[in-house]
Amino acid sequence: MSRTVVVIGGGVIGAACAYYLRLRGWQVTVLEAHRFGAGCSHANCGFVCPSHVLPLASPGVLREGLLSLLRPTGPLRIAPRFDPNLWSWLWQFARRCHRSLMIHAGGAIQPLLQSSRRLFDQLLTTESLNADWQARGMLFVFSTPRAMAHYAHTDALLRKEFALAAKPLTSSELHTLEPALRPGLAGAWFYDTDAHLKPDLFMRALETRLIDRGVRVVENSPVIGFQSEKRRITAAITPDASFSADSFVLATGSWSSRFSKYLGVRLPIQPGKGYSITFSRPAVCPRYPLIFEEHRVAITPFTNSYRIGSTMEFAGYDDTLNRRRLAYLTNSAAAYLREPPNQTVLEEWYGWRPMTPDGVPVIDRSLIYPNLYVAAGHNMLGLSMAPATGKLIAELLTNTAPHLDPTPYRLDRFSR
Ligand SMILES: Cc1cc2nc3c(=O)[nH]c(=O)nc-3n(C[C@H](O)[C@H](O)[C@H](O)COP(=O)(O)OP(=O)(O)OC[C@H]3O[C@@H](n4cnc5c(N)ncnc54)[C@H](O)[C@@H]3O)c2cc1C
Repeated sequence: MSRTVVVIGGGVIGAACAYYLRLRGWQVTVLEAHRFGAGCSHANCGFVCPSHVLPLASPGVLREGLLSLLRPTGPLRIAPRFDPNLWSWLWQFARRCHRSLMIHAGGAIQPLLQSSRRLFDQLLTTESLNADWQARGMLFVFSTPRAMAHYAHTDALLRKEFALAAKPLTSSELHTLEPALRPGLAGAWFYDTDAHLKPDLFMRALETRLIDRGVRVVENSPVIGFQSEKRRITAAITPDASFSADSFVLATGSWSSRFSKYLGVRLPIQPGKGYSITFSRPAVCPRYPLIFEEHRVAITPFTNSYRIGSTMEFAGYDDTLNRRRLAYLTNSAAAYLREPPNQTVLEEWYGWRPMTPDGVPVIDRSLIYPNLYVAAGHNMLGLSMAPATGKLIAELLTNTAPHLDPTPYRLDRFSR
């Protein structure tokens, strides 16, 4: 008889867990508080980027954080307020802003990124998912020669520690490769390993395939608690029903710390709010995904549109669309693009990234209930790490040899 599992959360992580569990023959139910795919996985930038191994907690970011208190329109913002969980999180984050810990975290992030990049190729082909997938690489674009030269230090570090090499492009090489950029930019660093897709399309296509394969998706069903017997969870409780199963997977993104009492450790996940605006395609649309590193703003081209995204705001679960943050995106992009972003706005959006202080996700079982698992805290890279996370969860639940070492993603690192 096949085993049953309830996955809580219908974001990209929950979807990937459901997919790989179903492949192994589990009867899967996904419980989603709102609509499948409508959380942080909806209108993010869509980068699948093995190049992004370094976490946010890095030398220099603390200074940027402090400056952000004085400059509320910059790419990083901490809204000053009394919130003991936020201050505790910031303290843990601050302690990790050292080169050695950054490299250590990168060593945990990289295997998930690399494995996921390979699994994306398999998943999209095997399931024929229409997600506007393009594997062209990514350009880190710089406006000043100084910033371009400065990135050489990061490139050297990435080469040495992670065997990740970018190709530097001169100003004229850049403009030949990417005619949508304004003339006069300093140059770029090119990562040929990276790819991108349209996240909302991907989530829709994956949901359809999950349902085709027999996964039950139950929307508008927020899990408000669990029933347990001795050391086992027996059912997930929603306001309307209870769902029993052999195992349970929490994939509730930035909301996951609400379930800490079932995990046996206070899970330090804060919502890191980011924004995006999707425009109709201009006459001269970027061909490559672009990151304007000096402004920390990203652009993703799709077949029928393009998206500008980014900014990181620690403001709790503030659900307003802050016009100043949106303006920051368009003003920053306008400084680089030949055609300024003044096309038809198709969507303005924000999402709460599930941020851990060390930048590393949690993929593990509860310290109290061995049949409750958690896959959360994927920070700024949930899409890029989703397939390997789903596969690892399926391996942990079936007690089979994991395809990558699960040690760095353990929950008990927060109880020390
Ligand atoms: C502006 C921006 C750009 C980004 N760009 C990229 C990018 O280019 N590449 C990349 O890899 N990542 C990117 N990210 C990060 C990425 O979007 C996230 O890491 C990822 O979406 C997290 O996925 P998730 O499934 O954990 O969370 P979510 O997608 O938020 O899913 C969690 C789900 O759980 C549900 N839920 C919560 N509580 C309950 C409950 N009690 N019961 C039932 N359901 C519940 C929620 O409704 C939600 O649907 C970006 C993020 C932002 C904001």
